[in-house]
Amino acid sequence: MGATRFLLHAPPAAGPRLGLLETPRGRVQTPAYLPHAARGAVGSLRVSDLQELQAQALSVSLYALQQRPGAAAIEALGGLHGFVGWSGPLLADPGDREVAALAGEPAPTPGRRARGGQGRLLRCDAAEARYTSFIDGSLQRLSPEAAVLLQWRLGADLGRSPLPPRPRSRAGAGLVASWLFRAAEAAASVGLPLFATLPGSWESAGLESAAGFGVACWQVQLAADSGWPPDTRPRLVVGENGPADFLVAVAAGADLVSGDSIIRAGASGIAFIPGGLLDVRAADPGDDRPLDPVCRCTTCQFASRGYLRHLFAADEMAGPTLLAYHNLHFLLALERAARGWIEAGVFAAEMALFLAQYRESASGMRRNDAGVV
Ligand SMILES: [Zn+2]
Repeated sequence: MGATRFLLHAPPAAGPRLGLLETPRGRVQTPAYLPHAARGAVGSLRVSDLQELQAQALSVSLYALQQRPGAAAIEALGGLHGFVGWSGPLLADPGDREVAALAGEPAPTPGRRARGGQGRLLRCDAAEARYTSFIDGSLQRLSPEAAVLLQWRLGADLGRSPLPPRPRSRAGAGLVASWLFRAAEAAASVGLPLFATLPGSWESAGLESAAGFGVACWQVQLAADSGWPPDTRPRLVVGENGPADFLVAVAAGADLVSGDSIIRAGASGIAFIPGGLLDVRAADPGDDRPLDPVCRCTTCQFASRGYLRHLFAADEMAGPTLLAYHNLHFLLALERAARGWIEAGVFAAEMALFLAQYRESASGMRRNDAGVV
């Protein structure tokens, strides 16, 4: 891994683990939560917000960025770090999940060029996947070599190999193995520390040179059950869907967990609180309580639930921003707590307590308080 290395403290046979990922741009204490920037930004949060809340590393998707503004423009602005303004460790995401999501998009009218919109997956074979741009309908390509070399070219500290968009098709298993092997070869040729993305269970091809391993969040239990590769390289889980997902991933042995639930929830008026999910759009207009009385984040220091409800009703952009800030604070506090629980040997008990309260209070308040979903 060159200047990047991973130190695992007293590796357990299974379950949560404590470690330290060292990169040329800084250290990451693990388990760690990585906010995910889908289009070059973590929603409406500023980089200074991420720093203020002590996010240790950032995940940046290249799916949208390579279409707009394009690799050359990002390179001219200092690569991903200069472009985004983030000086810490940065994981580049190849955007394969976004390409896979295009598979369900409708076909363009015969004889007419697609006009963009969501884009569309055209085909995926051994060599590459082809899809149309969500911007102008132009032809785009995704291949293991191109994806990995783009991550390296743009200065990522850590990369992730792309899965073929149709891993569960008849030829899927062979495609997954060959794509993984080709991505690992490309990463080794330029010295990029690469997380080899697994389709849920681990295979041997292409793993020898991988810096670590990655799975999608919905497959994390499968990875835990069928066994992560039997070594101490770091494990990445992508696409988390909230605090419970984060803890489940950590319990399954994940070291890095990335996702954008803080933004998606915030955009929908949802705040993470110890009792569950709070929908501020349904709050009482006169509710003067903060989102979470014990939260020390800036949002909770001045914004009442009634005020936040108003911001959403008025479609003010401050609403999603204030909620995303609180949500990130909540997840990063949970990240630090999880490390403390592992260190103290009480992770399983504390996680069970958290999840019981999270569900129990949420369902209880759902009956008594229309503000909680
Ligand atoms: Zn707060």
